[in-house]
Amino acid sequence: MTFDVAIIGAGPGGYVAAIKASQNGKRVCLIEKNYLGGACLNVGCIPTKTLLSNAAIVSKLKKASDFGITTGPISFDYGQMKKRKDSVIEKIRKSLDGLLLSNKITILRGTAEFLSPKEIKIKGHDNTIILADNVIIATGSEPLDIPAFPCDHERILNSTSLLEITQLPKSLAIIGGGYIGCEFASLFAELGVKVTILEALPMIVQAQGKGISDALSRAFVKQGIDIQTGVFVEGIEKTSSGLSVKLKDKPALSCDMALVAVGRRIVTDHLGLDKAGVKVGDRGMIPVNDKMETNVPGIYAIGDVTGKFMLAHVASHQGIIAGSNIVGQEAHMHYNAVPAVIFTMPEIASVGFTLEQALAAGYSATAGKFPFMALGKSIAAQDTEGFAEVVIDNKTKQILGAQVVGYDASSLIAEMALAIANELTVECVADTIHAHPTVAEAWLEAALIANETPIHFPPKIKK
Ligand SMILES: Cc1cc2nc3c(=O)[nH]c(=O)nc-3n(C[C@H](O)[C@H](O)[C@H](O)COP(=O)(O)OP(=O)(O)OC[C@H]3O[C@@H](n4cnc5c(N)ncnc54)[C@H](O)[C@@H]3O)c2cc1C
Repeated sequence: MTFDVAIIGAGPGGYVAAIKASQNGKRVCLIEKNYLGGACLNVGCIPTKTLLSNAAIVSKLKKASDFGITTGPISFDYGQMKKRKDSVIEKIRKSLDGLLLSNKITILRGTAEFLSPKEIKIKGHDNTIILADNVIIATGSEPLDIPAFPCDHERILNSTSLLEITQLPKSLAIIGGGYIGCEFASLFAELGVKVTILEALPMIVQAQGKGISDALSRAFVKQGIDIQTGVFVEGIEKTSSGLSVKLKDKPALSCDMALVAVGRRIVTDHLGLDKAGVKVGDRGMIPVNDKMETNVPGIYAIGDVTGKFMLAHVASHQGIIAGSNIVGQEAHMHYNAVPAVIFTMPEIASVGFTLEQALAAGYSATAGKFPFMALGKSIAAQDTEGFAEVVIDNKTKQILGAQVVGYDASSLIAEMALAIANELTVECVADTIHAHPTVAEAWLEAALIANETPIHFPPKIKK
């Protein structure tokens, strides 16, 4: 079989690239060894957010009496929640299958391996060798296992096996306070599990900066989550009652279950990249230029394997860039306006620079920060936790970054991603009429504060 484009991996990077190339007249095949949709649909974004939406309802019900609503004691069946999660995945998988067929993409099921730069062997459900003028590598990543405490997937789990449990543990130790660890912490704590986060760095979600880390830590402590930072896990022992997590220079922690969430391993081994002549960098990462080209002409890499942001929407955008370049529509990847969301309670979202990053990059920068406790819609809905912050360049007034902590931060960040991607100034946001009462008004207010023209916030005291 011969194709214009062969794509290895049907995650959010691979399948989007396939659609782009096919819609522009190319003969495309998509090779997948597991399920369509990759980590995102099957063991990442969608299952976690489905379960988190259950926890959000529980959280609202707990506050029902504040709204004058009387409920009985709140109870739930985690097994049913897990079943709902599985059915959501199944539904999206089916529609993805239909979408790919409607785009006339050939799906080959099996494990792909290069035999040469244009020749790929597929082993599994389909056993064949194909030839392709262009190849896109989109093989993604998997949970990282730690040799000192390997997962047994019964009591010591990773993010994939934890999604399969049907009964909640009484207590859960989460090793790693990055975004995956924190999302699981939020989910299980809301459902009544005693959660402890063990993080080696001085703060949780360190990559998001101190302001966001502090805000999330405060919310977690209120939720009853125990956060231990600067701790080093040396091993995990099984005991008659559960697990004993051994900590360096600290007493061991007893718990029922542990989640190992210390990072992701890039999946580029066993792909025969040496036979294709593709260079591999640190941790298996494939170096690419801004057209998503590897060092071998006609071979592209996208998504987690590029080690850039390891987010589904980045993988998809890279897929569009690679697909466009293959069909002769020159396109370049930019990373200055990548929104990143942590789906905790409250949600956290950011795009572009924090104030510290802007100053470190040499800008004369200012931030305007507006708290949700001063916003009508947030007060009405009793969702007053958090803030929206806009970072601007004092010279040009251009928006350099934005952060938001609070209800629906995941949707709110889109306005700032649009502003930064289009190099808008703070006046553009201030001059845009925002509907009232909405939480999006927080951007208007934060922009007005950054511009030193606040309306619903006291003016800065001039010295
Ligand atoms: C718990 C969790 C929560 C997450 N939540 C979010 C979120 O809310 N938002 C977000 O943006 N990101 C989230 N992510 C990250 C997101 O899932 C990844 O960034 C995204 O899936 C990467 O897409 P990809 O296309 O590069 O690879 P993947 O989605 O990993 O897909 C790669 C595919 O390639 C296949 N494959 C691998 N090797 C071969 C081979 N040799 N032959 C054939 N097929 C092969 C794999 O089976 C897989 O299906 C989350 C991840 C996890 C683990």
